[in-house]
This record gives sequence, C-alpha cells and structure tokens, in this order.
Amino acid sequence: MKKINMINPLVEMDGDEMTRILWGIIKEELLNPFIELKTEYYDLGLEHRNETNDKVTTLAAEAIKKYGVGVKCATITPNAERVKEYNLKEMWKSPNGTIRSILDGTVFRAPIIVDSIKPYVRTWEKPITIARHAYGDVYKDVEMKVEGKGKAEIVFTDENGKEKRELIHDFKDGGVILGMHNLNKSIESFARSCFNFAIDTKQDLWFATKDTISKKYDHTFKDIFQEIFDAEYKEKFKELNIEYFYTLIDDAIARVVKSQGGYIWACKNYDGDVMSDMVATAFGSLAMMTSVLVSPDGYYEYEAAHGTVQRHYYNYLKGKDTSTNSMATIFAWSGALRKRGEMDNNNELIEFANNLERASLQTINEGYMTKDLALLSDLDNVKVMNSKDFIKEIRIRLEKIYNN
Ligand code: NAP
Ligand code: MG
Repeated sequence: MKKINMINPLVEMDGDEMTRILWGIIKEELLNPFIELKTEYYDLGLEHRNETNDKVTTLAAEAIKKYGVGVKCATITPNAERVKEYNLKEMWKSPNGTIRSILDGTVFRAPIIVDSIKPYVRTWEKPITIARHAYGDVYKDVEMKVEGKGKAEIVFTDENGKEKRELIHDFKDGGVILGMHNLNKSIESFARSCFNFAIDTKQDLWFATKDTISKKYDHTFKDIFQEIFDAEYKEKFKELNIEYFYTLIDDAIARVVKSQGGYIWACKNYDGDVMSDMVATAFGSLAMMTSVLVSPDGYYEYEAAHGTVQRHYYNYLKGKDTSTNSMATIFAWSGALRKRGEMDNNNELIEFANNLERASLQTINEGYMTKDLALLSDLDNVKVMNSKDFIKEIRIRLEKIYNN
C-alpha cells in the first residue's frame, strides 16, 4: 500500500507513564505503516517540562494556534509526591490548564460506544457529548463564615467610585456566605464554541441553567446563548436540520435520562463537573471517553479523557504484563487526523481516520479487548489482550480494510 500523504502538519504532544508507552505503540503499529505522518513534535513528558521550565507547554499551545489542530497524550499534573518522584524544580501547573488558558477553549467529552457494552441507561444508543464551561462560578468564588449578628451585602464599586448595593441577608446568628462571578466575554466564547461544535458534528445542542431562580446570574447565560444563536447561528442550524434547545436544568436531567443520546449538552462549570462523571460512568468506562478542546477561534486539541494510568505503568516498569485500554488515545489521533483532513481537503486522510475507528471498534466487537472492557462486555467469546496485542489486533483489521 502507498502511504497516505499529509498536506499540513498537526501538533503532536507526547506525555507520561503508561499513556506514553501506548503513544509509541500506536504510532508504530497504527499510524506510521499507513501514513506519511507529518507532525510538529512537543515532548510534554514531565522530565522535559521540568528541563524547559514548562516553556514547552506554552510553545505547544502556540503551535496549535499556528496549525489549527493538535493531539495530546495524557500528562502528569504534578503534586507534592510527583515533585519528589521526578525531582522537579517547581510544582508545574497542569498542562491542560495552561493550554486551555492560551487557546480559551471549551472541552467536549464524548464516550466511544461499542455494541457489546451496554450503558446503564437502557435508552442511550448514541453518545452524549458534555460541554463544560471552564471559567468562574463556584470555582472562583469568595466565601465567608458569619459568626453572629450582622448584615451581609454585595457591593459593586464602579471606576468612578460609585457604589451599588444589594442586601444578601440580615443575619441574626451564624451562617455562611459566598460571592461568585462570571464574565460576559467568557460566556460568549463558551456559547460560540458550543454552536461551532454542534455544526461541526451535526448534532443538536442542549443548554440548561436555573434561570427561574437565578434571575440575573443564570439568566445572563441563557440570554447570551440566545442572542448569539439568533444573530450568528440560526440559519446554519436550520440548513443542517439541527436544533438549539434551552431548558431548565432539572427538566434537562429528566430528558437526558429518557433520551436516546446523540446531542451535545452544554453545562455551566459545576453542572459539567458533576454531569460528565455521571455520563462517563453510565456509559461504562473512563477508558472509553474522548475529549476535545475547541477554541472560539476554531483551534482543536484532541486527547483521551483519562490520565496516565499510573498503576499500570508501575507494573509495566516491573516487567509485568499490562492490559491498558488504548481506545481513547487512538480516537484522539483519529479525531485530530480527521480534523486535519477536513481543514486541508484531504479525503484520503479523513477516510483513514474513519477506517482506524472502524478497525478499532471491529476488534472489540469481535471479542478482542483489554481487561477493563472484558469485565463489562456481554459477549461470550471474549479474549483478554495485553496492551500491545490489542493494538496489533487492530492493525490486522486495518490492514484488511486497505488490502481489500
Ligand atoms: P487515571 O490515569 O485516569 O487512572 C485511574 C484508574 O482508572 C486506573 O488506575 C485504571 O484502573 C483506570 N483507567 C484509566 N484509564 C484506563 C485505561 N486507558 N485502561 C485501563 N484502565 C484505565 O487517573 P490517575 O491514576 O488518578 O492519574 C494518573 C496521572 O494522570 C496523574 O498524575 C494525573 O495528574 C494525570 N491525569 C492527567 C490527565 C490528562 O492529561 N488529561 C487527566 C487526568 C489525570 P485500575 O487501576 O483499576 O485498572
Ligand atoms: Mg469532577
């Protein structure tokens, strides 16, 4: 077979531990034999981040702005233990946080669905994609304990020193108060990322808040989404026969559980935190969740939703056999390659991304899978694979697709 050519490169960000091992095998078995891979490589492994004083993370994010598409391996977010383990100069920040703050994006998470693993919610047939707003609210709040009698107020002082006040509560006794904020600009880019991604993936977009109770705060989210939709996206949605739908958060929960899936659910920061764990668990496995960061300017960064699978890596270092699921990392690559293909009008590359996903799903549906999925599968001919053999089984099927 003649290798598929790429026109423009994509940004490749290598990572840590078990996922770094999988990264190498995926390239060796599933990418290099089929594609003349063109990437700009950034090593975001913790050692190299430390050597470069984490400059490499910033450079990688800047490169995504230049090329439009990136694919990232899971990386360690250092804590005190890691600082010791890797002898770090500093407790470097989360690479995902750094990249997100440079690209100003929204993260969309969607499960990979296979026939033989049934979601806990029987009606769910298609993936539910969660979009989480990643700025403000309770994550940037200010809190205070009230010890006794007194008045709590919100005060806004404008730049001329003029004050605006609202009474929070006239306390007769102890209690708690909380102040939080959000920014129109951040809500606007969240809304645009969601509308763009709905158009991209041709799925309906749902959004829900508690605007009936929170008549200014949550209502602002609702209004901004509606204004942007009406002004910029309505026609395009009509053309594609997709819908933007707003409802109350409690109504949304009821509808989600009774739905068949197949839409994007945009959530405020806290709702997204909670609901993405609920959706991942109900679909079966964190190892099957994909994640893509979409910036309002149209840059894309693909990765697996899970971490570096540290426990498996320590077994790997001891020479023990591991059975780590590479699906989400493979789908990060296929997502990035497909997007690269779409941006470059490279049909061969788009087709390759589709074939890679097809071969991967086929492998699992024929009973070849890693241990985590074997525990969930209702097939009766399951063959549990180790990390490398699972990827080799995918290669066999991918080669078959290309040799036919
Ligand atoms: P993790 O890597 O997601 O793994 C937690 C557990 O989930 C594993 O021990 C394993 O369970 C299971 N699991 C996750 N992915 C799997 C896969 N592909 N195949 C099979 N099983 C899988 O989370 P962690 O161990 O708490 O975190 C490790 C490191 O990852 C941390 O340093 C953290 O900072 C980093 N992290 C990075 C990202 C990112 O880069 N996006 C996200 C989250 C965490 P069993 O042990 O039961 O087999
Ligand atoms: Mg959470």
